Amino acid sequence: MTHRVAIVGAGPSGFYAADGLLRGQPGLRIDIIDRLPTPFGLVRAGVAPDHQGTKAVVRQFDRLLSQPDVRFIGNVEVGRDITWDDLRKAYDAVIVATGMVIDRPLGIPGEDLPHVWGSWKFIAWLNGHPDFRRGPDLGCVRSVAVIGNGNVALDVARVLAKSPEEMAKSDVVPEAGEAIAAAPLTDIYVIGRRGPEHASFTGNELAEMGRLARAVALADPGALAAEPPADGPTPERLRKAKNLEILRGFAANRAGAKPLSVHFLFSATPVAIRPGEIDLSTGTLPADLVVTCIGYRGEAFPQGEGIFSVGWARRGPTGTIPTNRADSHAVAQEVLGWLRDRDSKNGPYPLPSSIDVEGWRRIDQAEVAAGAAQGRPRVKVTDWQRLLRIARGE
Ligand code: NAP
Repeated sequence: MTHRVAIVGAGPSGFYAADGLLRGQPGLRIDIIDRLPTPFGLVRAGVAPDHQGTKAVVRQFDRLLSQPDVRFIGNVEVGRDITWDDLRKAYDAVIVATGMVIDRPLGIPGEDLPHVWGSWKFIAWLNGHPDFRRGPDLGCVRSVAVIGNGNVALDVARVLAKSPEEMAKSDVVPEAGEAIAAAPLTDIYVIGRRGPEHASFTGNELAEMGRLARAVALADPGALAAEPPADGPTPERLRKAKNLEILRGFAANRAGAKPLSVHFLFSATPVAIRPGEIDLSTGTLPADLVVTCIGYRGEAFPQGEGIFSVGWARRGPTGTIPTNRADSHAVAQEVLGWLRDRDSKNGPYPLPSSIDVEGWRRIDQAEVAAGAAQGRPRVKVTDWQRLLRIARGE
């Protein structure tokens, strides 16, 4: 009897796990379960909508969904529609690939104010996630404080700073794109609590901030005296040296050269947030919108025999999409080792009604067709019920 593996979470780490399993044991039966009726997790909802090159990885994942022994089981939430225990009984192994989708709190006064947004919610809104259809009111937003010095902070700052023309080929949801285009934005502050030598930006993403049509990137030259660390792994040292070089280029830019300024601030710890302002350890800044980009938490999942985890659910919220390939492949080897010594359970199979790959393809086609009419890669369907109706061919 062929073994049956459930992968919970249809994001990149889950698909790379499926890929690793099939490379090691072609013919294994794999069900990829997701609470959404759409696959691809963070690639669909978390990668910035203007980074279509990054999103192109879904073509590899989509090919896996065409394999006869791989099933997509969408619109099924483990813990609500089926218990973890039932899954363990039905499958020979369960791989948890649920990522991390809860914004970490800053833990300072004022962070519950309505103009303070976590990056997960903010980017999910830009990306048309059906649970996050309402975005911030940008009507009077001139100044934005983006907290954090990672690539997510750059994603948020960049999408706010880009002109409508620069966003024209993105799949930002129209209502978010229009709200950003209409906002009276003048200043975006990207705020790091440590010095620039500690920023976790990567070079390509940081350099992109220097090439925006309507925004000039600025940095205080006094903050850039730091040297990259003399020790540590070479790629990290090179990355940090490159960041400092790019930031020194920003420090040479002329303030006011473009209608919008993106200020890179360092050694500035957020202390308190009030309507229209944020207090940092270095002083107070205007901030009509605050977006915290300081990492994520995940939901707890059961541990135990036959349960494995991959991606951010296993490692925490660090690493790019390609990082997950090697990581998930290694876990897939562990799973295959575990299965090797066991007969298939061939247990009861209590999966509730779901959206399958054909349902997803109907959604995909509808979105791509709507996008084609506007010269965009797709226009996302953001309403749960509409997603389900399209998937069911109604
Ligand atoms: P990250 O790189 O870990 O950055 C988190 C930032 O939040 C750090 O600068 C951290 O500062 C700061 N921070 C944490 N707690 C804070 C607090 N209480 N107050 C102020 N600042 C605080 O994580 P990320 O930006 O969320 O990205 C997650 C992963 O996805 C990363 O591996 C990233 O490279 C990847 N990603 C890649 C891309 C891309 O390739 N284009 C795009 C988006 C995300 P400290 O360093 O001082 O802790």
